[in-house]
Amino acid sequence: MRIYVNDVAVRDGFQIEPHFIPTATKVEVVNQLSRTGLHKIEVTSFVSAKAVPALADAREVLAAIDRVPGVIYVALVPNLRGVHDAAASPARPDEVNGVMSASETHNRANINRTHEQSLADMPAMIRAAHDAGMKITMSLSTSFGCPFEGRVHEDAVLDFVARFRDLGFDGISLADTTGMANPRQVRSLTAKVLERFPPPDETFYTLHFHNTRGMGLANVVAGIEAGVRSFDGSVSGLGGCPFAPGATGNICTEDLVNMLEDMGCDTRVDLAKLLAVARRIPQVVGHDVPGQVMKAGQTLELHEPPARLRS
Ligand code: ZN
Repeated sequence: MRIYVNDVAVRDGFQIEPHFIPTATKVEVVNQLSRTGLHKIEVTSFVSAKAVPALADAREVLAAIDRVPGVIYVALVPNLRGVHDAAASPARPDEVNGVMSASETHNRANINRTHEQSLADMPAMIRAAHDAGMKITMSLSTSFGCPFEGRVHEDAVLDFVARFRDLGFDGISLADTTGMANPRQVRSLTAKVLERFPPPDETFYTLHFHNTRGMGLANVVAGIEAGVRSFDGSVSGLGGCPFAPGATGNICTEDLVNMLEDMGCDTRVDLAKLLAVARRIPQVVGHDVPGQVMKAGQTLELHEPPARLRS
Protein backbone atom coordinates (compact mmCIF):
# COMPACT_ATOMS: atom_id res chain seq x y z
CA MET A 1 0.00 0.00 0.00
CA ARG A 2 1.42 3.36 -1.04
CA ILE A 3 1.51 5.96 1.74
CA TYR A 4 2.57 9.55 1.03
CA VAL A 5 4.75 11.21 3.67
CA ASN A 6 5.20 14.96 3.98
CA ASP A 7 7.56 16.89 6.26
CA VAL A 8 6.75 20.18 7.99
CA ALA A 9 9.81 20.61 10.26
CA VAL A 10 11.35 23.58 8.48
CA ARG A 11 8.11 25.55 8.87
CA ASP A 12 6.15 24.07 11.80
CA GLY A 13 9.25 23.07 13.76
CA PHE A 14 11.67 25.95 13.21
CA GLN A 15 8.85 28.47 13.63
CA ILE A 16 8.71 28.05 17.41
CA GLU A 17 12.46 27.90 18.04
CA PRO A 18 13.42 30.81 20.34
CA HIS A 19 16.44 31.79 18.24
CA PHE A 20 16.45 32.50 14.49
CA ILE A 21 17.59 29.55 12.39
CA PRO A 22 19.89 31.03 9.72
CA THR A 23 18.50 31.01 6.17
CA ALA A 24 21.44 28.94 4.92
CA THR A 25 20.69 26.26 7.53
CA LYS A 26 17.01 26.10 6.53
CA VAL A 27 18.06 25.73 2.89
CA GLU A 28 20.51 22.97 3.78
CA VAL A 29 17.88 21.00 5.73
CA VAL A 30 15.33 21.37 2.90
CA ASN A 31 17.94 20.21 0.37
CA GLN A 32 18.76 17.17 2.48
CA LEU A 33 15.08 16.33 2.99
CA SER A 34 14.52 16.72 -0.76
CA ARG A 35 16.78 13.72 -1.40
CA THR A 36 15.03 11.32 0.97
CA GLY A 37 11.97 10.54 -1.17
CA LEU A 38 9.41 12.62 0.74
CA HIS A 39 6.22 13.58 -1.13
CA LYS A 40 5.92 17.20 0.07
CA ILE A 41 8.13 19.51 2.08
CA GLU A 42 6.65 22.51 3.87
CA VAL A 43 9.41 25.04 3.46
CA THR A 44 8.16 28.27 4.99
CA SER A 45 5.19 30.56 5.56
CA PHE A 46 4.14 33.85 3.99
CA VAL A 47 3.07 35.43 7.24
CA SER A 48 3.81 38.87 8.65
CA ALA A 49 7.48 39.06 9.67
CA LYS A 50 6.37 40.91 12.79
CA ALA A 51 4.05 38.06 13.83
CA VAL A 52 6.52 35.25 13.05
CA PRO A 53 10.07 36.62 12.80
CA ALA A 54 11.40 33.05 12.50
CA LEU A 55 10.01 32.83 8.95
CA ALA A 56 10.79 36.33 7.73
CA ASP A 57 13.15 34.83 5.12
CA ALA A 58 10.42 33.00 3.13
CA ARG A 59 11.45 34.44 -0.26
CA GLU A 60 15.14 33.86 0.32
CA VAL A 61 14.61 30.22 1.35
CA LEU A 62 12.41 29.49 -1.68
CA ALA A 63 14.90 31.13 -4.01
CA ALA A 64 17.89 29.23 -2.63
CA ILE A 65 16.65 25.64 -2.34
CA ASP A 66 17.42 23.02 -5.00
CA ARG A 67 14.14 21.69 -6.35
CA VAL A 68 14.16 17.96 -6.82
CA PRO A 69 11.69 16.92 -9.56
CA GLY A 70 8.67 15.15 -8.10
CA VAL A 71 8.92 16.81 -4.68
CA ILE A 72 6.16 19.33 -3.93
CA TYR A 73 7.41 22.46 -2.12
CA VAL A 74 4.77 24.04 0.08
CA ALA A 75 4.38 27.36 1.89
CA LEU A 76 1.80 28.15 4.53
CA VAL A 77 -0.41 31.19 3.87
CA PRO A 78 -2.61 32.42 6.73
CA ASN A 79 -4.70 34.74 4.52
CA LEU A 80 -5.20 36.32 1.09
CA ARG A 81 -2.22 38.61 1.61
CA GLY A 82 -0.08 35.51 2.14
CA VAL A 83 -1.22 34.07 -1.22
CA HIS A 84 -0.40 37.37 -2.94
CA ASP A 85 3.03 37.45 -1.29
CA ALA A 86 3.71 33.85 -2.34
CA ALA A 87 2.58 34.65 -5.90
CA ALA A 88 4.84 37.73 -5.99
CA SER A 89 7.84 35.82 -4.69
CA PRO A 90 10.52 35.45 -7.40
CA ALA A 91 10.66 31.73 -6.58
CA ARG A 92 7.13 30.55 -5.91
CA PRO A 93 6.15 27.51 -3.91
CA ASP A 94 4.44 24.73 -5.90
CA GLU A 95 1.59 24.77 -3.45
CA VAL A 96 0.25 27.05 -0.75
CA ASN A 97 -1.65 25.84 2.26
CA GLY A 98 -4.26 27.99 4.01
CA VAL A 99 -5.39 27.52 7.59
CA MET A 100 -8.64 27.79 9.44
CA SER A 101 -9.65 26.26 12.76
CA ALA A 102 -12.76 24.13 13.16
CA SER A 103 -13.32 25.86 16.49
CA GLU A 104 -14.29 29.52 16.32
CA THR A 105 -12.34 30.43 19.47
CA HIS A 106 -9.15 28.83 18.15
CA ASN A 107 -9.59 30.54 14.78
CA ARG A 108 -9.78 33.90 16.52
CA ALA A 109 -6.84 33.08 18.80
CA ASN A 110 -4.67 31.76 15.96
CA ILE A 111 -5.40 34.04 13.01
CA ASN A 112 -7.62 36.67 14.60
CA ARG A 113 -10.64 36.01 12.38
CA THR A 114 -14.13 34.62 12.71
CA HIS A 115 -15.18 31.63 10.64
CA GLU A 116 -17.22 33.88 8.37
CA GLN A 117 -14.24 36.17 7.77
CA SER A 118 -12.02 33.18 6.96
CA LEU A 119 -14.56 31.63 4.60
CA ALA A 120 -15.25 34.94 2.87
CA ASP A 121 -11.61 35.21 1.75
CA MET A 122 -11.30 31.72 0.35
CA PRO A 123 -12.63 32.19 -3.21
CA ALA A 124 -10.13 35.02 -3.76
CA MET A 125 -7.32 32.95 -2.23
CA ILE A 126 -8.04 30.06 -4.57
CA ARG A 127 -8.23 32.32 -7.61
CA ALA A 128 -5.00 34.13 -6.73
CA ALA A 129 -3.15 30.84 -6.19
CA HIS A 130 -4.40 29.25 -9.40
CA ASP A 131 -3.73 32.42 -11.42
CA ALA A 132 -0.11 32.20 -10.24
CA GLY A 133 0.10 28.53 -11.19
CA MET A 134 0.15 27.29 -7.60
CA LYS A 135 -2.03 24.62 -6.09
CA ILE A 136 -3.84 25.55 -2.91
CA THR A 137 -4.89 23.30 -0.06
CA MET A 138 -6.74 24.09 3.17
CA SER A 139 -5.83 22.86 6.63
CA LEU A 140 -8.59 22.55 9.18
CA SER A 141 -6.90 23.03 12.56
CA THR A 142 -8.43 21.64 15.76
CA SER A 143 -10.38 19.08 13.70
CA PHE A 144 -10.29 16.64 16.61
CA GLY A 145 -10.42 18.97 19.59
CA CYS A 146 -9.85 22.55 20.67
CA PRO A 147 -7.81 23.57 23.72
CA PHE A 148 -10.47 26.23 24.49
CA GLU A 149 -13.74 24.58 23.48
CA GLY A 150 -13.01 20.87 23.95
CA ARG A 151 -14.28 18.21 21.53
CA VAL A 152 -15.20 19.44 18.06
CA HIS A 153 -18.38 17.92 16.69
CA GLU A 154 -17.94 15.62 13.67
CA ASP A 155 -20.74 17.38 11.83
CA ALA A 156 -18.90 20.69 12.10
CA VAL A 157 -15.82 19.14 10.48
CA LEU A 158 -17.88 17.42 7.77
CA ASP A 159 -19.55 20.72 7.03
CA PHE A 160 -16.22 22.51 6.57
CA VAL A 161 -14.89 19.69 4.39
CA ALA A 162 -17.96 20.03 2.16
CA ARG A 163 -17.46 23.78 1.89
CA PHE A 164 -13.75 23.51 1.12
CA ARG A 165 -14.45 20.94 -1.60
CA ASP A 166 -17.19 23.05 -3.14
CA LEU A 167 -14.93 26.10 -3.12
CA GLY A 168 -12.37 24.21 -5.21
CA PHE A 169 -9.35 23.58 -2.97
CA ASP A 170 -6.84 21.07 -4.35
CA GLY A 171 -6.56 19.23 -1.06
CA ILE A 172 -7.77 19.24 2.53
CA SER A 173 -5.75 18.54 5.64
CA LEU A 174 -7.35 17.63 8.96
CA ALA A 175 -5.03 18.76 11.74
CA ASP A 176 -4.93 17.73 15.36
CA THR A 177 -3.25 20.95 16.32
CA THR A 178 -2.84 20.35 20.05
CA GLY A 179 -2.76 16.56 20.15
CA MET A 180 -6.29 15.83 21.38
CA ALA A 181 -7.25 13.09 18.89
CA ASN A 182 -7.54 9.41 19.77
CA PRO A 183 -7.52 6.50 17.29
CA ARG A 184 -11.19 5.63 17.64
CA GLN A 185 -12.20 9.21 16.96
CA VAL A 186 -9.83 9.42 13.98
CA ARG A 187 -11.24 6.26 12.43
CA SER A 188 -14.82 7.44 12.91
CA LEU A 189 -14.34 10.95 11.53
CA THR A 190 -12.07 10.08 8.59
CA ALA A 191 -14.26 7.17 7.51
CA LYS A 192 -17.22 9.57 7.34
CA VAL A 193 -15.22 12.17 5.42
CA LEU A 194 -14.07 9.59 2.84
CA GLU A 195 -17.49 8.05 2.47
CA ARG A 196 -19.44 11.29 2.09
CA PHE A 197 -16.86 13.18 0.07
CA PRO A 198 -14.82 10.63 -1.91
CA PRO A 199 -11.42 12.08 -2.83
CA PRO A 200 -10.41 12.58 -6.49
CA ASP A 201 -6.99 11.08 -5.74
CA GLU A 202 -4.98 9.41 -2.97
CA THR A 203 -3.41 12.60 -1.65
CA PHE A 204 -6.49 14.85 -1.53
CA TYR A 205 -6.88 14.26 2.21
CA THR A 206 -3.93 14.55 4.58
CA LEU A 207 -3.85 13.93 8.30
CA HIS A 208 -1.62 16.11 10.46
CA PHE A 209 -1.14 14.70 13.94
CA HIS A 210 0.70 15.94 16.98
CA ASN A 211 2.13 13.52 19.50
CA THR A 212 1.33 15.77 22.46
CA ARG A 213 -0.22 12.92 24.43
CA GLY A 214 1.58 9.98 22.85
CA MET A 215 -1.22 8.97 20.46
CA GLY A 216 0.27 10.31 17.22
CA LEU A 217 1.30 7.07 15.48
CA ALA A 218 -1.74 5.19 16.75
CA ASN A 219 -3.83 7.90 15.11
CA VAL A 220 -1.96 7.38 11.84
CA VAL A 221 -2.82 3.68 11.86
CA ALA A 222 -6.46 4.53 12.52
CA GLY A 223 -6.39 6.97 9.59
CA ILE A 224 -4.86 4.35 7.28
CA GLU A 225 -7.49 1.81 8.31
CA ALA A 226 -10.17 4.34 7.41
CA GLY A 227 -8.55 4.88 3.99
CA VAL A 228 -6.35 7.99 4.28
CA ARG A 229 -3.03 7.75 2.40
CA SER A 230 -1.20 11.01 3.11
CA PHE A 231 0.37 12.07 6.42
CA ASP A 232 2.46 14.94 7.77
CA GLY A 233 5.39 14.52 10.10
CA SER A 234 8.31 16.60 11.31
CA VAL A 235 11.85 15.26 11.00
CA SER A 236 13.29 14.47 14.47
CA GLY A 237 9.86 15.33 15.96
CA LEU A 238 10.77 19.01 15.93
CA GLY A 239 7.99 21.36 16.95
CA GLY A 240 5.86 21.97 19.97
CA CYS A 241 2.51 23.00 21.22
CA PRO A 242 1.93 26.73 21.58
CA PHE A 243 -0.41 26.18 24.53
CA ALA A 244 1.72 23.70 26.47
CA PRO A 245 5.35 24.80 26.72
CA GLY A 246 7.66 21.80 26.64
CA ALA A 247 5.01 19.50 25.15
CA THR A 248 5.82 17.40 22.10
CA GLY A 249 4.59 18.68 18.75
CA ASN A 250 4.23 16.99 15.38
CA ILE A 251 4.69 13.27 15.02
CA CYS A 252 8.22 12.43 14.03
CA THR A 253 8.66 11.76 10.29
CA GLU A 254 11.34 9.07 10.54
CA ASP A 255 9.46 7.26 13.34
CA LEU A 256 6.41 7.37 11.07
CA VAL A 257 8.36 5.99 8.08
CA ASN A 258 9.97 3.27 10.22
CA MET A 259 6.53 2.14 11.42
CA LEU A 260 4.94 2.27 7.96
CA GLU A 261 7.77 0.32 6.30
CA ASP A 262 7.69 -2.27 9.11
CA MET A 263 3.96 -2.62 8.45
CA GLY A 264 4.66 -3.31 4.78
CA CYS A 265 3.54 0.07 3.45
CA ASP A 266 5.43 1.64 0.55
CA THR A 267 6.55 5.19 1.50
CA ARG A 268 9.32 5.52 -1.15
CA VAL A 269 11.35 7.22 1.61
CA ASP A 270 14.99 6.28 2.18
CA LEU A 271 14.90 5.88 5.96
CA ALA A 272 18.68 5.82 6.40
CA LYS A 273 18.97 9.18 4.62
CA LEU A 274 16.08 10.61 6.63
CA LEU A 275 17.70 9.45 9.88
CA ALA A 276 20.91 11.19 8.86
CA VAL A 277 18.96 14.46 8.55
CA ALA A 278 17.20 13.86 11.88
CA ARG A 279 20.48 13.25 13.69
CA ARG A 280 21.77 16.67 12.64
CA ILE A 281 18.75 18.55 13.99
CA PRO A 282 19.80 18.68 17.68
CA GLN A 283 22.93 20.57 16.58
CA VAL A 284 20.87 22.93 14.45
CA VAL A 285 18.43 23.84 17.22
CA GLY A 286 20.78 23.43 20.18
CA HIS A 287 18.59 21.08 22.21
CA ASP A 288 17.36 17.50 22.41
CA VAL A 289 14.49 16.40 20.13
CA PRO A 290 11.73 13.79 20.65
CA GLY A 291 12.57 11.41 17.75
CA GLN A 292 12.85 7.82 18.96
CA VAL A 293 14.19 5.80 16.01
CA MET A 294 17.10 8.24 15.67
CA LYS A 295 18.13 7.11 19.16
CA ALA A 296 17.15 3.41 19.06
CA GLY A 297 18.03 2.67 15.42
CA GLN A 298 15.77 1.10 12.78
CA THR A 299 13.75 -1.91 13.89
CA LEU A 300 15.89 -4.41 12.00
CA GLU A 301 19.23 -2.80 12.74
CA LEU A 302 20.46 -5.90 14.58
CA HIS A 303 22.99 -6.14 17.36
CA GLU A 304 25.82 -8.58 18.02
CA PRO A 305 24.69 -11.26 20.47
CA PRO A 306 26.61 -11.34 23.81
CA ALA A 307 30.09 -12.90 23.49
CA ARG A 308 29.15 -16.04 25.47
CA LEU A 309 26.62 -16.96 22.75
CA ARG A 310 29.19 -16.75 19.99
CA SER A 311 31.10 -19.98 19.31
ZN1 ZN B 1 1.63 20.85 13.39
